[in-house]
Amino acid sequence: MLSQIRNKVEAGERITPEEGLFLLSKADLLDLAPLAQTWRWRHNPAPHVSFVVDTNLNYTNICDAYCSFCAFYRTDPSDPSAYTYTVEQIMEKIGKSVEKGVTTVLMQGGLNDALPLSYYVEMVRETKRRFPTVTPHYWSAPEIMKMSQVSGESVHYVLQALWDAGQRTMPGGGSEILSNRAKAIISRFKPKDTVDQWTQVHVEAHKIGFVTTATMMYGHVETDEEIVESLDHIRKVEDQAKGGPGGFTAFIPWSYKRSNTALAKKVLEEAGPNKYLRIIALSRIYLDNVPHIQASWFSEGRKTGQVALQFGADDFGGTLFDENVMLAAGFYNRTTIDEAKSLISEAGFIPSQRTTSYRILEVFEKDAPIKPLAVPVSAG
Ligand code: SF4
Repeated sequence: MLSQIRNKVEAGERITPEEGLFLLSKADLLDLAPLAQTWRWRHNPAPHVSFVVDTNLNYTNICDAYCSFCAFYRTDPSDPSAYTYTVEQIMEKIGKSVEKGVTTVLMQGGLNDALPLSYYVEMVRETKRRFPTVTPHYWSAPEIMKMSQVSGESVHYVLQALWDAGQRTMPGGGSEILSNRAKAIISRFKPKDTVDQWTQVHVEAHKIGFVTTATMMYGHVETDEEIVESLDHIRKVEDQAKGGPGGFTAFIPWSYKRSNTALAKKVLEEAGPNKYLRIIALSRIYLDNVPHIQASWFSEGRKTGQVALQFGADDFGGTLFDENVMLAAGFYNRTTIDEAKSLISEAGFIPSQRTTSYRILEVFEKDAPIKPLAVPVSAG
């Protein structure tokens, strides 16, 4: 099986779900790295690893999704720790982030019935008006569905309203594992609808012209088959986007963190680096139509993030100046621009700063590693 997969990877051919499952469950970890790197260099021939200067703002923690893996949400608006920021409060936070050099604001929050569509549209419009250098990377698929539900308008209507206000990119959160069985266990959504809902939001967004990411949170109740199933859904959504104005820019996996979550009663151990590196490598090989794979240094730790750059990842994510969801699960996860650059350089790559849509803003040649880079001849 391994040599059959190797032949396909070298020829640039697509692997099957069965071959993906073999790589994830049975192949030796160190056999995965060169296969994944072959696709990495094919997609991204320069010896650069990109990062984005971003912040992650969480506008409300009031939510009615009750995800058992989440330590962030509050259900009762009168709870002293429940909050919803006004558009003005969010603008103040963005203003402070811009002073630190932020170019991307990732915005995600709870699914809050009290917020009308106009709140979200105004947030986008005001961000664009007041901070022209900032890309509003706002709202993942479940939030779009909530906007649709609260407003009574279609998903297409909601996305078009956000687009008209100036939004052009969207994060891929809320996918978790794209398996109806696993989703039925970890969130209260109707299992029949969830995978289709997430994929349909992204298909619609891509048709309008949005570029989006796709994410996966693993290490809870999912099986290896369901990890492959998730990747397969993402590959199919990107196939549908081919030739159109939008599509996925990157895939970003990270592992479930147990602290302060209800699901910890069922999941006694967190997934470790071995599983993470397998998933990074598998995703690079399986998602032959997605240009970038992001190393999630913030959830897996800086050192594992660096190793992931030898397992197919070509992007180091963002600085996340102000993230609260993972923080609620006991995970302190911020870095600085200088630290991101030195981690990339230490791992053997030249750091480059990018935009939300992966356009390179600056290559930091002076931060190039001292050791020679292992760039294959075929990659130039
Ligand atoms: S993960 Fe998001 S949707 Fe789920 S409970 Fe937490 S805030 Fe709500």
